[in-house]
Amino acid sequence: MKVDVAIIGGGLTGSALAVDLGRRGLAVALCDRADFPRDKACGEGLLADGVAQLGALGLHGTLAASDAQPLAGIVYYNEHTRARGDFSKHAQGFGVRRLRLDAALHAAAARTDGVTVLRGEACLIAVDDKCATVTLRDGRTIRARALVGADGPRSFVRHALSLDLPVRGEGRYALRRHFRLAPGTPLPTHVQVSFHGPYELYVTPVAPEIVGVTALCARRVMQGGEGSKADRLARLWSAAPEALRALLDGAEPESDALACGPLRVRARAVSRGAALLVGDAGGYVDAITGEGMSLGLRSAAAAARALERWIVQDDRRAFLTYAAERAALLRAHVLLTSALVGIAGDARMRRRLVRGFALHPDTFGRWLAVSHGERTLSSLPLRDFWRLAAG
Ligand SMILES: Cc1cc2nc3c(=O)[nH]c(=O)nc-3n(C[C@H](O)[C@H](O)[C@H](O)COP(=O)(O)OP(=O)(O)OC[C@H]3O[C@@H](n4cnc5c(N)ncnc54)[C@H](O)[C@@H]3O)c2cc1C
Repeated sequence: MKVDVAIIGGGLTGSALAVDLGRRGLAVALCDRADFPRDKACGEGLLADGVAQLGALGLHGTLAASDAQPLAGIVYYNEHTRARGDFSKHAQGFGVRRLRLDAALHAAAARTDGVTVLRGEACLIAVDDKCATVTLRDGRTIRARALVGADGPRSFVRHALSLDLPVRGEGRYALRRHFRLAPGTPLPTHVQVSFHGPYELYVTPVAPEIVGVTALCARRVMQGGEGSKADRLARLWSAAPEALRALLDGAEPESDALACGPLRVRARAVSRGAALLVGDAGGYVDAITGEGMSLGLRSAAAAARALERWIVQDDRRAFLTYAAERAALLRAHVLLTSALVGIAGDARMRRRLVRGFALHPDTFGRWLAVSHGERTLSSLPLRDFWRLAAG
């Protein structure tokens, strides 16, 4: 088949991009190797910026279709300290099951004029400065004027374009499972985060009566110990503070435990010839700040603008503009996320951070506003940095 744009990967960013391009009048092939609904290891907290991105595409309804639960903020636990940060009233986030949200977005893409949805695994690509050819494992080929790799952190497209960049260090991994709360147990209104040094635990309300429990951990924690993924997650959970453990009293597992990692992914560049990388395929830092989906949706919007200029106006600088926009988008995120991963792994710094946030909830709220794109890092008052340093 012949199209304007072939997108490999129909997850959150690939599907949102397909909707956007279809609305711009382009012919799109959206190809994923999975059958939807398909699950994905994720903390499943969509911050306000991501909600706004869905709204801008007219896809807000996908949240309701997914039974998404409103999030009022984040609670941090460290040793005996508990800190609560509230999102501002203009910054509504949602907890949402990826199983449901990605399927709703994929279905929205399939309904969009100009978008053809294909089930198949891309296994060969040829790209030059003017066009791209994708071959699927079953032998079908797609010829396109531009190719997009939206195929996630282990991106085949990034690899085939020789854009992989090695990552130094031990690496962080993740385990995730859902639980149905016992009757009468209220669903938390805030994402609950418990710090334990070599790992953190996250609890996110994702549907009525259902929470997702995620552990982000060093490789030695992920690989150490016996048993299944579910057993290992249960062992990590047993060290959670009493207040948090009580939440799962009498709860029943609602999904299989999924594992993934290493989380950190780097790309040498996000474009080569007529190809672009969006979402995690273009690089990923860590899940600790829960911004991946929002950034993926924002980078998809920037990619849609660039692809339209590339195809309609034959503008060969469009992909450079995309790369620059994406880098600007990620700058504060990379800084904050890397800093928080460092702090989470250091007992003294972690104590100061959580104590500082517990003493100054307004400071916590402003840091959250930076994290969900409502304000910039440079707009924070100096006292917010000082309060954290002083703990
Ligand atoms: C443990 C964990 C917790 C997280 N928590 C949060 C959070 O709380 N909030 C948040 O905003 N973000 C979070 N993230 C980040 C978020 O999950 C990602 O940023 C987001 O899923 C990126 O979407 P994507 O579309 O780029 O990739 P994906 O969602 O991974 O989609 C990629 C798609 O490509 C398909 N594919 C792959 N290879 C091929 C191929 N060769 N051919 C065809 N199809 C292919 C796959 O089947 C898949 O459907 C978390 C991530 C992890 C790992």
